[in-house]
Amino acid sequence: RAIAVAPIVKRVVHKWQRLFEQYAWVVSIDAEQNSFVRIDEVRLEQVIRALLDNACKYTPKGNSIEVVVTQVDSQVHIVICDEGEGIPPEDLPYVTERFYRADKARSRQEGGVGLGLAICREIVEHYDGIFLLGDAQTRQGTKVEMIFPAMDIEKEST
Ligand code: ATP
Repeated sequence: RAIAVAPIVKRVVHKWQRLFEQYAWVVSIDAEQNSFVRIDEVRLEQVIRALLDNACKYTPKGNSIEVVVTQVDSQVHIVICDEGEGIPPEDLPYVTERFYRADKARSRQEGGVGLGLAICREIVEHYDGIFLLGDAQTRQGTKVEMIFPAMDIEKEST
């Protein structure tokens, strides 16, 4: 079943904005935009929460966390970008593997078992999405981009 993703992402992000006012949130989600994606709503929420959790965990107070939802042609992009410490380039290929954690000492202090990103990637790929992880192109930080095929709701309901 296809669902409209923008209102769901917006609702989750708004909750986090209220809980974590110490970050400079930059949110660009057009909830009116009817981008439909074939994904389970609970799974989508789980992914967004895990990514926001990481963004908040690794970003100093006052720095920005940016969330963008857009549709470009027949693809829906969900981007979460932070101005945190970033993931070391040598760790990037591995952090979406189960139980891998960059800089183990620091990570232990922060808690977590290193499952978050692996599960996010599995969920996204299960719904035919692409999970891209890399440097934020700002001063520093991490960028997660998820790209899903946009569903034609007319076709979907027949
Ligand atoms: P949990 O299972 O509780 O999510 P975790 O945060 O260690 O624990 P992942 O979410 O999979 O697990 O992240 C894996 C590793 O990637 C982290 O230990 C951290 O080093 C790095 N990482 C993830 N997101 C970010 C981010 N936004 N900024 C910097 N480093 C990050």
